[in-house]
Amino acid sequence: MHEQRVDELLKRLIYTGYIEYTPWNISLRKGQHEPLITLETHQKIQKRLSEKAHAPIRKDVSADFPLRGFVVCGECDNPLTAAWSKGRNKYHAYYNCHTKGCDSRGKSIRRDLIEGQFEALLRKLKPSHALIGAATQMFEKLWQHRHGYQQSRVETLQTELVRVERQTNKLLDQILEADMPSVIKAYEKKIKQLEEEKLVIAEKIESAGLPSKDQNTTLRTALQFLSNPHVLWGSKQLEDKRAVLKLVFTERLAYVRNEGFRTAKTTLPFSMLGGIFDSKKDLVGPEGLEPSTCRL
Ligand SMILES: [Zn+2]
Repeated sequence: MHEQRVDELLKRLIYTGYIEYTPWNISLRKGQHEPLITLETHQKIQKRLSEKAHAPIRKDVSADFPLRGFVVCGECDNPLTAAWSKGRNKYHAYYNCHTKGCDSRGKSIRRDLIEGQFEALLRKLKPSHALIGAATQMFEKLWQHRHGYQQSRVETLQTELVRVERQTNKLLDQILEADMPSVIKAYEKKIKQLEEEKLVIAEKIESAGLPSKDQNTTLRTALQFLSNPHVLWGSKQLEDKRAVLKLVFTERLAYVRNEGFRTAKTTLPFSMLGGIFDSKKDLVGPEGLEPSTCRL
């Protein structure tokens, strides 16, 4: 597909469920068809398209080597590269360091070995039942909080809508009193902007009331991940694997050839788990104390 075609698709307003056709004096309005994206998303895309590109094209992401770009060489701290290399009968998958002057440069690490060790590391990150209970309670609190927040958000949006409507009416009055064509044109332009703003606000009000998934489904997904991050790692989707890397680790992992991974820095839920496991010997068990949630 040509870049031009992609550009054209990204600019199509019709996907938002709205229509506009100036040659026939059809101003922006809701169509009769089902929207694919929100008007807000469409506007974000247009804004992004008008800006200069700032994200580099990621070359390090590849389905064959999910750890590429994420694991660094234990000796020189530069990211490992990965590739297929041709053997006598078939191709083999390898990771290796490409940095000039590094002792590990060009020395291959079999993909199965490094990815197997990575999976073993993930499997160690299993939380206790107490933590699952605590996480469930925290989640329920957070959910209620969000629910309340959504309600107040709808109220704020409704106030905002009234404000924009008032502003539009004021401008319409001003148009009636103006006689300079240039002034009228400027007012018309402003009114058009306000009309668009109104549609976006209305769309936000409509979607703010409805959570995309129900509480139980969301909780179950979150807990499933917390209790078994390696299950998501087993997904065939590269995005899922990248999500695991992002959610579990706070920095890139260092891999020492012939030894394995250095101690990894994990994100909060997992560091807490680590902390609980490690300090078990020194602490009084939660049974004898208040509910374990207090400690969290
Ligand atoms: Zn190196």
